[in-house]
Amino acid sequence: MTQPFVYLDHNATTPVRPEVLEAMLPWLGPRFGNPNSAYRLGQEARKAVEDARAQVARLLGAKPEEIVFTSCGSEADVLAIAGAAHRAHERSKGAKKHLITSAIEHDAVREALRVLEKRGFEATTVGVDAHGRVDPQDVRRALREDTILVSIMHANNEVGTIQPVGEIAAACREKGVLMHTDAVQSAGKVPIDVGALGVDLLALSGHKLNAPKGVGALYVRQGVRLTPVITGHQEKNRRGGTENVASIVGLGRACELAAAELDRHAAELSALRKRLEDGCLKIPGSRVNGHPTLRLPNTCHVAFDGIEGFQLVVALDLEGVCVSAGPACSTGAVDPSHVLAAMGCDSRWCVGALRISLGWGSTRADVDRLLALLPGAVEKLRRVGAAT
Ligand code: PLP
Repeated sequence: MTQPFVYLDHNATTPVRPEVLEAMLPWLGPRFGNPNSAYRLGQEARKAVEDARAQVARLLGAKPEEIVFTSCGSEADVLAIAGAAHRAHERSKGAKKHLITSAIEHDAVREALRVLEKRGFEATTVGVDAHGRVDPQDVRRALREDTILVSIMHANNEVGTIQPVGEIAAACREKGVLMHTDAVQSAGKVPIDVGALGVDLLALSGHKLNAPKGVGALYVRQGVRLTPVITGHQEKNRRGGTENVASIVGLGRACELAAAELDRHAAELSALRKRLEDGCLKIPGSRVNGHPTLRLPNTCHVAFDGIEGFQLVVALDLEGVCVSAGPACSTGAVDPSHVLAAMGCDSRWCVGALRISLGWGSTRADVDRLLALLPGAVEKLRRVGAAT
């Protein structure tokens, strides 16, 4: 896209911040050493990777040695889930084979569990309430003697609802069950302290917090052992493959910036979001989805009666505004998102859903531009819909 555009889809991906790019560039140029090489060119790359590990750890209140770099958030989720499942299954000689998850997880987690189920593992899926929140009692009730791991996301990517991960982790700990949380959407947006949360495993992704695509990290609490998904000796035998030095450096810098600015940024984004939601709700036949207070500060999920969210996305794109309908609609067919379906959302609201997600660089002017376009766009789609 060459024209200026308004980007309001930060839950899909985020722009790389200039400070992050600047930190990365030397590692894509003259400082190209392999961090596993003994000579100085390699050892300076090793130092850069270890510095980044400390930066990521600081964002999470973790120890640097508890951070494993991966190729993305999905890989971090898979390493946590499949790595824990296979390890426990092997150690228990097949006796342990049960996992628990929620109905609103990202496909990274859903698919990892689906693959395990095909291989003989069993999974229980707990539901959510109308705000998209898991009840920790449901997880408690689902725990079994043979449960290996519970995987419940920290915050949902569509509606932004924040889950009671601390309470769920406490229930897991009582039973000696591992707790993994997918924090891909929450890392850098809300404070995270892995010690206070009590989780054993936590996944994050670079491209959701202003680092590049193709890099992620998994927090692995000291003492937790996983069967690697990619075998090899890097990352202390936890993830093979020569480290992606430049992207890891970028992830570290992005985490450092996010940690320093988190409180101010969250306050600014929630003020902007309030302006956005107040404006959206002035449109007749509209509503906001997700938890009223326990929600990511950047995420606004609105629904408009009588239209298709996908068509609204197209109409706004023609005006240079990028937002998302989530997976609510696919070319003509009404295919409600599994998240909205789990929340018991009536199909007419599911179809007209729009996810607007703010982030670094979002301004009041961006919000006002969208608010100037929305009423007309919604009305036009309703008129066209009524005529057909
Ligand atoms: N988990 C959640 C909640 C996400 O929103 C995403 C990406 O949208 C992922 C995992 C996957 O992250 P990545 O794109 O880095 O693989």
